[in-house]
Amino acid sequence: MRHFAIVGSGPAGFYTAEALDKAYGGEARIDILDRYPVPYGLIRFGVAPDHQSLKAVSKRYDKVAESAGVDFIGNVTVGRDISVAELLELYDAVILAVGAPHDRKLGIPGEDLPGVVGSAEFVGWYNGHPDFADLDPPLGGSHAAVIGNGNVALDCARILSKTRHEFEGSDIVGHALDALDGSAIRTVTILGRRGPHQIAMTPKELGELGHLEAASPVVEGADFPPLEADDALEPGHRKSITILRGFADTPPDDAKPKRMVFDFFAKPLRIEGDGKAEKIVVERTELDDKGAARGTGETYEVTASLIITAIGYSSSPIADVPFDGGKFVNEGGRIAERLYAVGWARRGPTGTIGTNRPDGYEVADLVAAAMPAGSSDGRAGAEGLKRLLESRGVMATDYDDWRKIEETEVANARAGSPREKFVRHEEWLRTLGR
Ligand SMILES: Cc1cc2nc3c(=O)[nH]c(=O)nc-3n(C[C@H](O)[C@H](O)[C@H](O)COP(=O)(O)OP(=O)(O)OC[C@H]3O[C@@H](n4cnc5c(N)ncnc54)[C@H](O)[C@@H]3O)c2cc1C
Repeated sequence: MRHFAIVGSGPAGFYTAEALDKAYGGEARIDILDRYPVPYGLIRFGVAPDHQSLKAVSKRYDKVAESAGVDFIGNVTVGRDISVAELLELYDAVILAVGAPHDRKLGIPGEDLPGVVGSAEFVGWYNGHPDFADLDPPLGGSHAAVIGNGNVALDCARILSKTRHEFEGSDIVGHALDALDGSAIRTVTILGRRGPHQIAMTPKELGELGHLEAASPVVEGADFPPLEADDALEPGHRKSITILRGFADTPPDDAKPKRMVFDFFAKPLRIEGDGKAEKIVVERTELDDKGAARGTGETYEVTASLIITAIGYSSSPIADVPFDGGKFVNEGGRIAERLYAVGWARRGPTGTIGTNRPDGYEVADLVAAAMPAGSSDGRAGAEGLKRLLESRGVMATDYDDWRKIEETEVANARAGSPREKFVRHEEWLRTLGR
């Protein structure tokens, strides 16, 4: 019997577990470890709470977790409670699926002023991530800005613009819903260094902006290249640009009090304010012949007392694992003998949930090729892990604990909400009587 440890229970971890379970057909024990007693990584803590249909992918992972060969071991932080070297002693192979939880920095003056928050923090706050329960983003000013031109930037801008009523059926946490309901923000400016053709926003997410109850998108027609230039775009991307062009052709709805302003060709130079963020000084850009943003020297200011940076993520280094500053150094998913990486920990923060599936299957194939089924190195696996954690006073949780937490959250749900998420580690543990 082979023993495998997958560190991280997000999409990449679960697809890899599914693939290993299939590849070894009952001849392997696969333990999925996570820092938290509940699984699913960014499906729980990242994907927008008003996108419940996307979160439904977790039903597929539920099936993997129910498989006889797969176990969930929560409340264990690898690198703190146990090292990768120790896991390699206990398991035939260790697969890091730890994601990329940290915001990339802008690298401009003023970004540490109060009022500037990373998207991981802001998204974590409204999604009930325990690290960000106390974020308390400033919502008292009339202007906010989101820096970045991807779907995460759109998520943040949309969440800031929705009415309480529009969150019905979502799993947004109560503290965020109440705070957003009292928000004074009327204008959200979305800043991108390049133009409409260079956005990384998908049609579904953009299209939603045209149907918000209280907010209208504002796009400048002069920012677009000639219409014929769209012919060269890949069809999905062309669809996004067509939606944006539609916004540019439609005057904002005066009956709606909020505006989502797309400010293209805008490079933030610095953030200024008296002890807190008040404005962004921005340089107008243009595209050079390689399609990169080039400053024009013209500057202007964008007022914003809340500034959310959504310009990408990086992984956390783990002791003794080679790290390149953003992700783990790997070749096709292999880091070293018996040590692998999948998902954002392998590729960096790109792609959709589905992109992690081929990634996980590819790495499972590598593992299976290196360690054929039927053979064993006699490792102690989960039994050894539990003994070691117990000796260190680490309170590991299991599948039944996760289910108990989930059932309690669903039972606590407010009317119209699929669940009332716990937002603090202690609440999880209290539910388990620990
Ligand atoms: C804000 C946001 C919104 C998104 N929305 C969408 C969307 O709408 N549609 C879409 O297709 N994709 C979306 N994505 C992308 C999608 O979430 C990712 O592709 C996917 O989650 C990456 O999977 P992963 O398993 O690599 O990482 P993650 O989902 O981050 O999972 C990593 C797991 O590892 C655990 N972990 C981390 N460190 C340790 C440690 N040291 N010890 C133990 N456990 C650890 C974490 O707790 C977590 O459970 C979004 C991403 C973000 C950031």
